[in-house]
Order: sequence, then C-alpha cells, then structure tokens
Amino acid sequence: MNHLFDLVRSRMPEAGKPCLEREDGRVLTYGDLLAETGRLANALVGLGVKPGDRVAAQVEKSPEALLLYLACVRAGAVFLPLNPGYMLREVEYFLLDAEPAVVVCPPGKNAEMEGIAAKDCRVVTLGHKGDGSVVELAAGQPENFEDRPREAGDLAAILYTSGTTGRSKGAMLTHGNLASNALTLVDYWRFTRDDVLIHALPIFHTHGLFVAFNTVLLSGAKMLFFQRFDPAEVITAFPRSTAMMGVPTFYVRLLDHPGLAGARLETMRLFVSGSAPLLAETFSAWKERTGHAILERYGMTETNMNTSNPYDGERMAGTVGFPLPGVDLRVVDPATGEKLGGEAIGMIEVRGPNVFSGYWRMPEKTAEEFHPDGFFITGDLGKIDAQGYVQIVGRGKDLIISGGLNVYPKEVETEIDLLPGVLESAVIGLAHPDFGEGVTAVVVRERGAEIDEAAVLRGLENRLAKFKQPKRVMFVEELPRNTMGKVQKNVLRQTYEGLYRKG
Ligand code: AMP
Repeated sequence: MNHLFDLVRSRMPEAGKPCLEREDGRVLTYGDLLAETGRLANALVGLGVKPGDRVAAQVEKSPEALLLYLACVRAGAVFLPLNPGYMLREVEYFLLDAEPAVVVCPPGKNAEMEGIAAKDCRVVTLGHKGDGSVVELAAGQPENFEDRPREAGDLAAILYTSGTTGRSKGAMLTHGNLASNALTLVDYWRFTRDDVLIHALPIFHTHGLFVAFNTVLLSGAKMLFFQRFDPAEVITAFPRSTAMMGVPTFYVRLLDHPGLAGARLETMRLFVSGSAPLLAETFSAWKERTGHAILERYGMTETNMNTSNPYDGERMAGTVGFPLPGVDLRVVDPATGEKLGGEAIGMIEVRGPNVFSGYWRMPEKTAEEFHPDGFFITGDLGKIDAQGYVQIVGRGKDLIISGGLNVYPKEVETEIDLLPGVLESAVIGLAHPDFGEGVTAVVVRERGAEIDEAAVLRGLENRLAKFKQPKRVMFVEELPRNTMGKVQKNVLRQTYEGLYRKG
C-alpha cells in the first residue's frame, strides 16, 4: 500500500469530475490527474528515482508542479519544493544537504543547476506553462503506474523552514502527517465535492501545497488555479467559487480594491486565513464589507495545521481558535517546562499525528525541539483564553527583554494599532546600553494621517506599564513582509540596529 495515495484514490470522484481549472479555462479532471501523475511517476522511475529518494523542485507555480508532487508520492519519493526566489548560492545548500536524485528547474536554468548539483543527480526542467523536459519525458510514458509501497511513517516531503535565524532546516513530513491533517481539515471545514476553492497561494509552502491542495483532493472538490494572487482576478472568480484560502495580505489587498464593493459573493461559504496574524481590524472590515467572518487557523511547516476557529461557532478575531481534533496543545513556562493555565502566556507545544518526524539529518536539533512525551516546542508564544480559544502572542525569538522584564511585542502592537492615524505596527527589541534591549516601535500611518513619535508615546502613556512603552517610534511606508505575509522582524532589527548606540 501507498499510505497517502491510497487515501487519495479511495476518495476520488468519477474520472470526468473537474479537479483543477486553469486561468485560460482548460480543465484537468480527476481522470487526467491519475493519468498524468502515472506518466510523471514512470518518468521519475526512468530517471532512476527509487523509494526514499529526494526530488527537489525549484519551479514556478503551475498545475504540473502540483502533479509532480503527487507523482513523487506515488513513486515513493520525497518531494522537496524550493521557493523560486532563492538564489543559486542558497539552492546549493539545499542540494548539498538533501542530496536529491533529481532536481527540477525552469527551462533555461538547467546549465547553472547542473553546475551546483552532485554528479549523479539528474537535472530536468519544468516551465510555468507546463513545458519542459520532464513533461516531454512523461508524454512518452504509459499512464498506468504501480504505486510504490509506503507506510504512514515514510517520508512524503521535506520542506525547508525559512531560516530567519541560523541555518534553514528540512522538516521531514510523513505520509501519515499529510494524510491525517488533510482528513481533519476536510471534516472541520466541511469540504465536499461541490466546493470550488480559489487557489492563489504559492505552492512551495505548506499552505498552498498541503492545506489547499490536499483538502481539495480528499474531498473531490475543484480548484480555480491562479499563478499568482491578483485581487481583481480573485473578485471575478468569486461568483464561481465557494471558498478561498489566503494569507492576511490577500484580505488587506482585496479590501483596498474598488472592485470588492460590487463583488458577488452569494456562492462563497468560507474564507480561511493563516500563515501570519490577521489583524482584528482586517477581520472586522471584512465582516462589515462582505458579511463573512474570516476563519483564522494556525499551523507551521513542521506541524501542518494545529488549531482553527470553529466552522459553526463564533470565530474570534485575534485568536486562532481551538486545537483541531487529534491535536494536543499546551502552554508551558519556557523556563521550567511546567504547564500553565489561567490565560498565562507561555510557549505553545503540540503533539499529534500532524507533527513532523524531525529535521533532516539534524538529530540533535530535533531532540532539542521535542520533549520525551512527544510534544513539539513550536517557538510560538501564546495563551489559551477562558473559552479555550488559543491566542498567538508572537515568536519566542521576538520576545523583548528590557531591563530584565519580558515584553511581548503583540501586546504593545495591539495598543499602538488602536491609536487614531495608525494603520499597523511592528515592535522589536534593539540592543540598548542601559536596558539590554530597548522596546522600539515601527509604525505605518494611515493614508494622510500625521501622527508623530510624540503622539504615539503620549497615546500609550496610561495604557501600558512604563517598561513596555517604546523608547523610540520609527515611521515607514510599509512593513517588510515575506511572500507568506509574515512581517520580517529580522529585517527591521537590521535596519535599526544601531539606534541606541552611544556616541
Ligand atoms: P511557516 O512554517 O512558514 O508556516 O510559519 C509558521 C509560523 O507562522 C508559526 O510558527 C507562527 O509563528 C506563524 N503563524 C502561522 N499562522 C498564524 C496565525 N494564524 N497567527 C499568527 N501566527 C501564525
């Protein structure tokens, strides 16, 4: 048996049912999906891929790239997607670390890829239009393919973490991890074969690759496949869709788009947000403009999805909802490891079939991040409120220690964001000669607003303890964000590095 693909097969609708619609209107049915992944799997085996081998793909988003992921699953290989934005020097590290048997890159890039790949690694190409040598190879192959046996504990994918601190680590995800989480999401979010999902996320990341695609596959639903997110195109797609999964930036940009006013949303039943915190302001504005409460969920590369706001119950802004069925979640004191209750802030830890099996070839790092009882230390700080909703307060590494006291950036940001004239803010700690770290706010003004440093500081005077109040407030046009919409605090810390340096 092939754990993940057997599950996909067992839930597959009839061959003629559409699975994916491209931007030009061409449709890929479930029958096509079986045939094409069979051909691709045969092509991979022809290239020498054996079960357990890694297949790295640094390619643009395309339906064929999704099919390549499934072909790897069927061939028993380990799919290793890489952000197309990575430079050759960065890719070299991944290839050295993962030692793939095959690397897939865009046509025209194969020469430079061959320059950094190992001698016995085969380089093939795949373009964003579904062209390239791997597709040509597949075209000459039969569609029948005998899926290679894989157990729940065997690897299906390695996804490298973004590595904003230290070396990027390869999170090893098993067939069981992906299958169990996808089944849970299908159920929890009520996906059925009648759903049509707007897919405008990148597919080198867990959100677009697993949360979106696996949920569609295991419900027999259809997706409208977009190469990239464009608010106007998404608005045009609403009347033919039932659900959208997005990062918070999608919602912000849709709210800014004049077309949202006339959008037809009668068929839409679900808007999901995740990968970065959704501002309460965005949640409320969306509710007011569309009548829909965005469903916010929380997950990470290493764990798949951990929590979700409820489908039926109240979706609470500023929270990520409840632990998903089968997921154990606790908040502990990072210093003692003791479980905390009563809404105390601490380290979020999770355990469940969704949690990865460790970091590729980093047994020590893996051991550091797991407790002997199986709980994974997420690195996210948060709390569980009286009603059981989980709130994320920030990344552990973003915690600021000023004058020996802990300052949680989220708490300060929330207060700053409430001030008139402020659109959003990011609070960081910078080396400070007296305090160790100085609380520093980086603020984006609302369009046309004139709020200045003194006004921000005055506004916070009676709302936050003195040690939490920023020492300085800097203004920027927009916060630096990565493709998944996460604010890059490391970039801000670098920009303002010497702010409190004496002399
Ligand atoms: P990644 O591994 O790139 O998916 O990043 C995972 C991290 O994104 C988590 O550890 C959180 O810090 C953050 N994250 C994901 N979803 C949310 C959310 N809904 N609210 C706040 N942070 C989130």
